Amino acid sequence: MEHPDLDLNLAEFSWCLYCECVHKTTSWQANGWECPGCGAGCFDLRPWEEILALVQDYPERPEEGQQYLQYVR
Ligand SMILES: [Zn+2]
Repeated sequence: MEHPDLDLNLAEFSWCLYCECVHKTTSWQANGWECPGCGAGCFDLRPWEEILALVQDYPERPEEGQQYLQYVR
């Protein structure tokens, strides 16, 4: 099943807006596009690249299951 947002189908990693954790996009897909960690819905994920654009210190290849805050305090 493809996600309606094309960017997400192309991303290797996707980030969850709720728990702020990263999972492989294929894991999201296998879980019906719900967060593998917290079960957030299919529109609560963002391609990892979008988070990288906000916080340049984050690694290009994030650690799976790791939490990365959107705003570093
Ligand atoms: Zn989540």
